[in-house]
Amino acid sequence: TPTTSQVSRPTGRLLIFVNPHSGAGKGLETFNKRMVPLLKRRAINYELIVTSGAGQVERLARERSDLTTLSAVIILSGDGLVFELLNGLCARDDGFSLLRSLPLGLIPTGSGNGLLASCFSARGYSLSTGKFLDKALKVATSANSVAMPVNLLHMQTDSKNLVAFLSFGWGLLADIDIESERWRKTLGSSRFVAGALIRVFNLRTYRGRLSYLPYRRAERPQQLPTLTVHPHSAGDRIGDRAEVHRSSTSSSTSTRSQRDTDSAYSSTQFPRVDDSKWKAIHLRDGVPNLEDALTNDWVTLDDEFVFVYAMTKSHIATDGPLMPGARVHEDRIHLSYALSKDVTKFSLVRFLLAIEKGTHVEYPFFKVIECSAFRLEPLTAGSFMVIDGEVVETRQIQATTTHLHTHVIVG
Ligand code: ADP
Ligand code: MG
Repeated sequence: TPTTSQVSRPTGRLLIFVNPHSGAGKGLETFNKRMVPLLKRRAINYELIVTSGAGQVERLARERSDLTTLSAVIILSGDGLVFELLNGLCARDDGFSLLRSLPLGLIPTGSGNGLLASCFSARGYSLSTGKFLDKALKVATSANSVAMPVNLLHMQTDSKNLVAFLSFGWGLLADIDIESERWRKTLGSSRFVAGALIRVFNLRTYRGRLSYLPYRRAERPQQLPTLTVHPHSAGDRIGDRAEVHRSSTSSSTSTRSQRDTDSAYSSTQFPRVDDSKWKAIHLRDGVPNLEDALTNDWVTLDDEFVFVYAMTKSHIATDGPLMPGARVHEDRIHLSYALSKDVTKFSLVRFLLAIEKGTHVEYPFFKVIECSAFRLEPLTAGSFMVIDGEVVETRQIQATTTHLHTHVIVG
């Protein structure tokens, strides 16, 4: 299976988004001082959009009609703008095919750049501050680039179908991410360390029901796209065979567990409109919808958690290889959790500080499960649910592995 594909764009047009408020607020300066000279030198044609607020990129990705004429989208921000872009694309009728033909270039000017860190780490590139940015600028402006397929998860909330490319968090790690946003400007990526210390000393625990479908290789082999993108000839794609459509199977035959019968939750309040479009791209047949009963091949933990954190990539940040075993393109979710009965504040601080070196995996309370899907129902209020660093409002959530890949420029 190929892990990269060629992206040639000798004269193609780039659509460039700059979030002036991500990270330490250096996005625009990085663009003007570092990127413009490279674009000029290579005579690259581009359109610049400096974002004016949250939601703008999502809307543009959903509505613009010229996306097939672009050679790539470049984002100067953190993971948040990537989340907006991919979810905007996936809301379109032609969204899944656009994912295959429109590569992404990422310039890490955000405070959390986990996706690019995971991709660059997989390529063996240095993640040290200066080199990381230099390399990103170089690959995003090179005439002939290579893009890497990056798997996407389907996230189902009460009211929405979303994609995730990096992480889902609830409890300690999610709260650190969101509560530290107020220090984005002053501390940049160090905001997570400050947030971690404060949160651990005011440690909370979170009651929830976590269910997962243990990992099994997909019934049909996962087909990675082998595409070459020619920017001026949309439709001239080679080897464009990424998607395997399958008919959705009804889950009405599933055994209804006691738990689900007990649940007072009603799905009729916020109907999701396009569930079948999403079922068609699941890697495993017959995965229930969020409000359906679980089948008996799922495992459920009903407990008091300190955190739940799931990833399909290795890095939560350049200095955060939280899930060293995760591969950028593969079809499994690395679902981790810690139970409150297993931790002390002291062990948690040491665990959090160990993430940078990767030795956190040795802590026995850090449990990691490989799964194809999971569902979380918080039973007490008090934590954010966070997808790729963005808060989602929902009573419960479900993640499922899919055939979808986006393509990140890496060389
Ligand atoms: P960081 O890595 O610093 O968190 P992100 O790329 O995640 O940076 O962006 C943070 C948030 O900023 C995202 O929720 C995004 O939607 C939002 N955003 C985008 N453009 C703007 C803007 N012009 N002003 C304020 N917020 C914005
Ligand atoms: Mg963010």
